Amino acid sequence: MASSSGSSHNRGSFWSAGRNVDSSSPIPYRERPLDYTPAVMCKCGAKAAMFTSWSDLHPGMRYLKCARARVVGCDFWLWVDPPHSQFVKQLLLDLRDAVRSLRQEKGALQCQLQDAERSNVALQGAFADAERSNAALQGALADARRENATIQAAYVEARRENADVDGRRDVQSL
Ligand SMILES: [Zn+2]
Repeated sequence: MASSSGSSHNRGSFWSAGRNVDSSSPIPYRERPLDYTPAVMCKCGAKAAMFTSWSDLHPGMRYLKCARARVVGCDFWLWVDPPHSQFVKQLLLDLRDAVRSLRQEKGALQCQLQDAERSNVALQGAFADAERSNAALQGALADARRENATIQAAYVEARRENADVDGRRDVQSL
């Protein structure tokens, strides 16, 4: 199958499919769209930009299109690579989908990590408050123990005085 024969039909499919589907590249481009050589000039006279399709129909196929298409309304379009075999096409789609799902999982895990970090900060604050309360309570307990010891000493003293008074009363009554 020649790469040019289906290009105009494929282009329509690419854009109609691309509107609601994630068409972002699962991997970073090795070179920017205008860095390739030799240059291919498009209908409007500018160097055409080279992109890689990640659509369901043409995964991993490079294509050239006008870099200023939206500005000048130039509809230049050319596939660079011939279609892949069904095996390679499916392999690329599976790899694309694996990268995307791993990215989603990573994003969800990063959100969970941020939540956990926020909870950790809140718990550390509550723990510091609890430690401060505990220190204050320990201080109050030490004060109360000292007061208790003073009261016990006064009680022992009062009992001794009371015993002395009782002793004198017994001697007088004899
Ligand atoms: Zn152009």
